[in-house]
Amino acid sequence: MGKKVVKRKLRVDRLIMLIGVCVIMIAGVIQIFRMMLPAPKPIETEVMEYKPQEDRPIVVIDPGHGGYDGGTLSLDGTVVEKDVNMQIASKLKNILAYYGVEAILTRESDEVSWSSDNEEDLYARLDIANQNNALLLVSIHCNAAESDFENISGIEVYANPEQSESMRLAESINQHLSDTDLNVREMKDGSVYHIMVFNNDLPVALVETGFLTNSYDLAHLTSPYGQSDVALEVAHGILDYLGMTYE
Ligand SMILES: [Zn+2]
Repeated sequence: MGKKVVKRKLRVDRLIMLIGVCVIMIAGVIQIFRMMLPAPKPIETEVMEYKPQEDRPIVVIDPGHGGYDGGTLSLDGTVVEKDVNMQIASKLKNILAYYGVEAILTRESDEVSWSSDNEEDLYARLDIANQNNALLLVSIHCNAAESDFENISGIEVYANPEQSESMRLAESINQHLSDTDLNVREMKDGSVYHIMVFNNDLPVALVETGFLTNSYDLAHLTSPYGQSDVALEVAHGILDYLGMTYE
């Protein structure tokens, strides 16, 4: 082994050592930086903020008909009113919950807790509102025409003109419904119909959300978009009536 070979080997050894030292130092510096950095944050999941339960106003939403009583039908008989009412009412309940209003439904499914007697049916729905000290009751329905199906369309809101709070509620809902994609017909006197016949202190409004016998209304009322469109404006009407702010 000559001197030159030994020198070169020494240089190579030094170089390897130097590289080794550098790698260890860099790794050390990276480790120190890592320790200085804050711990990674957990991914934040979106949490809907609800008002505390005791502060939330309670309203009752009534999905019309149900169980033994299907209500009206589309012209081809495939769409049953009770199902559409339920779908819109469920969306309405969720929208109201988002705005801090607790909505109790008179029925949660197609099953009803009352007998197939018409009068008892109505009283049972009112009882649910009264037992829960609800601030108001809104009944959700769909209409049907007997003839001239393509020309008869749109929303109708009913209330008893003898009950001023019911009228105020109905007018508020009626006004907002003009923001939907559906035509809004004139408000109707509901004093001789349905749930509004009974004289009580509870503000009651009934919304016929459109005609299942009209092809345009039917398409809207059976689409998730159309159901949300109607539910949102009914919710706005209720929130306005309650004097609550919303975005
Ligand atoms: Zn109905």
